[in-house]
Amino acid sequence: MKIFSISKDNWANGLARLAGSYHLFGPVKEAQYHDFKELAKGQLPDLDFLNTRLSAKSVIYPQSEALLEYSLDESRDDHHIMKEVAADDSPRAVIGIRPCDAKAFVLVGHNFDTPDYKDPYWIRASEATTRVGLACEAPCSSCFCTTAGCGPYHEEGLDVLLAEAGDDYLAKVLTDKGQKLIQAAGWKTEADVDSAGRKLEAQKQAAESKIAAAVNTDNLKTIDTTELYNAPFWEEVSFACINCGTCTFLCPTCWCFDIQDENRGKSGRRMRNWDSCMFPLFTLHGSGHNPRGTKLQRVRQRFMHKLKYYVDKYDVGIQCVGCGRCIRSCPVNIDIRRVCDYMNSYGSAKDACAA
Ligand code: SF4
Ligand code: SF4
Repeated sequence: MKIFSISKDNWANGLARLAGSYHLFGPVKEAQYHDFKELAKGQLPDLDFLNTRLSAKSVIYPQSEALLEYSLDESRDDHHIMKEVAADDSPRAVIGIRPCDAKAFVLVGHNFDTPDYKDPYWIRASEATTRVGLACEAPCSSCFCTTAGCGPYHEEGLDVLLAEAGDDYLAKVLTDKGQKLIQAAGWKTEADVDSAGRKLEAQKQAAESKIAAAVNTDNLKTIDTTELYNAPFWEEVSFACINCGTCTFLCPTCWCFDIQDENRGKSGRRMRNWDSCMFPLFTLHGSGHNPRGTKLQRVRQRFMHKLKYYVDKYDVGIQCVGCGRCIRSCPVNIDIRRVCDYMNSYGSAKDACAA
């Protein structure tokens, strides 16, 4: 394992060199928030942010993506034949991704890249992407990553982890992909691994100590699924929800999509678009029946999926990295930490009542 010391004076030069072999993405300040965008030539990622409004998931899993294309022109020999749209899988790098967003790619990968099912679009984009993380020194008050299997210096899903070090960044290389990127940038100054490692560990502990919010998840796996599904608190949890879908669109671990054919004249494309379990149309059948026709059913589905079904199915913890985005942006203040506590304590609370 190597740790490089990158002088901030040499940061822009390195990124300029990287731009020769990677499409670079990074946080960019919009009106009142930061979001991940492809960086224009010479544009630097703005690393002065707490967290971005949307996660970096769209770099690998675009909000709207053309999968196939076809022609409806019957004078052509290939009319009505679906053809794969040529994808740009050339190397790309995300600079400044937060550790929670990087871990989210790992959680999402359990869905898109399994022994039985492989999503070629997501897998190709994931393999083409090098993820350069930026450790959090001052987490948001709504972050609860340390109890969601993650943390401000968490390394899962990253190729390089950057941390502030005064006039420098310390860059911990975590994978071969990360090493390749450091070389391509021309950053050559290796730090002493022992002293740099101690510094990173001290900063990590200081950052973790600033995270006050927490969730308890220890009972989720053992609680009976049907009992949790029928718990009385869903009425209260879902009461204020307006099914706007904000929580799911900005969540780095939500992956639901819809596929639609879009025709224009005699040509068409089969598109994959983000969708949301919070929208009634998401589950509306062609027959008119909707198995999740009420908002209680939809809100319950979101939390049961993240905090129970995912836990049971993959056995890798909850489908949440504690980034806090859904808490900060929900217009009616629905808080996953409170719902998680309701769920996690439901079985034991019932037992206590029964006793
Ligand atoms: S952001 Fe809040 S109001 Fe909107 S769908 Fe999610 S829980 Fe409901
Ligand atoms: S559920 Fe909320 S806190 Fe958890 S990863 Fe998604 S947006 Fe972040």
